[in-house]
Amino acid sequence: MNFQKTQRLQKLPPYLFVELDRKKAEAISCGVDVIDLGIGDPDLPTPKFIVDRMVQAVQNPAYHRYPSSEGMLSFREAAAKWCKKRFGISVDPATEVVASIGSKEAIAHLPLAFIEQGDVVLVPTPGYPVYHIGTLFCGGETYYMPLTAENDFLPDLDAIPADVLKRARIMWLNYPNNPTAATAPDWFFPKVVEFAREHDIIICHDAAYSEMTYDNYRAPSFLETPGAMDVGIEFHSLSKSYNMTGWRIGFTVGNSQVIAALKQAKSNVDSGQFEAVQEAAIAALESDQSCIAEMQKIYTERRDTLVNGLREIGLDAPSPSATFYVWCPVPAGYTSAQFCAKVLEEAGIVTTPGNGFGEPGEGYFRMALTVSAERMKEAVERMRKIL
Ligand SMILES: *Cc1c(COP(=O)(O)O)cnc(C)c1O
Repeated sequence: MNFQKTQRLQKLPPYLFVELDRKKAEAISCGVDVIDLGIGDPDLPTPKFIVDRMVQAVQNPAYHRYPSSEGMLSFREAAAKWCKKRFGISVDPATEVVASIGSKEAIAHLPLAFIEQGDVVLVPTPGYPVYHIGTLFCGGETYYMPLTAENDFLPDLDAIPADVLKRARIMWLNYPNNPTAATAPDWFFPKVVEFAREHDIIICHDAAYSEMTYDNYRAPSFLETPGAMDVGIEFHSLSKSYNMTGWRIGFTVGNSQVIAALKQAKSNVDSGQFEAVQEAAIAALESDQSCIAEMQKIYTERRDTLVNGLREIGLDAPSPSATFYVWCPVPAGYTSAQFCAKVLEEAGIVTTPGNGFGEPGEGYFRMALTVSAERMKEAVERMRKIL
């Protein structure tokens, strides 16, 4: 039998990390003590009070039945309260909040609600791959907005051609940004709101890193901007904020029309997240948030160890004020792929080549702050020896 795959699967971009994963597995099997700065997955455990709430909740028979697709009202209320406390924004738990099975799920499903064959979706590059893939699965066309050092890793809205704008229905944005670690300056979101109004575009802001901030930097919500509720929605995730990547829980808030359409699309493909997980997530959202301050402290120490170390050995490493990534130019004479291969083969360190996130990422490599400060020191020492 030959089972023919769909065009939409055949058109998927090649998984650029395959070769790197293979080399990493090979190094490990050869006994190399690999330091993995590749994946954006927190190494720290979920805070104990959240796990404890889960242990209790899992014993509640009421939670053993089908959940509601949109999420428990108590979860949506906790999410709304968290948004109010954290950003000062008011969202109605009934009509302006929906739970997600991790934000990736909502990001991938949102285009089902708005994208017809041939519609254009504006996607930042380098960027999180799911924005493009959700578009592709709906038969939409991706128009890439390059993020470069020259434009402070912000899309140049005025550079988008008029014929693209005519067909554009959605724009994805993500600040604090993965992979560049850029943050949005104060003037940017107001400009986006005006742009969205003018061109009738839904703004989808991915706020996965809103709590991963340092040095007193406070990441704004897109929805804090006057008029933003008229044009957009925001995707939140407990994955990075509370070290809960394995739990698969997040929520999306914002414009009621867009949220209603997302609920409709989602309710036809999923049946919501396990309510015990939602209850544990409520514990996280309603807590005093001291676990976030502790996380920020740990990442700040790791960041400083890595960035200072890299600078000492001659790399031009910027110090991020948000996210847990260092987005660093590769030394002269290397491509991203060449440099990452060298660092893995000669120093046993896994990093990610910038072009893996999109062509404008060429010339950079990304390191995740997901190992202890001690291991960071070791990583810098190993790099010193090979450079
Ligand atoms: C990690 C991440 C997410 C969150 O994914 P979850 O599905 O909520 O675990 C979303 N967007 C970006 C850019 C990310 O890096």
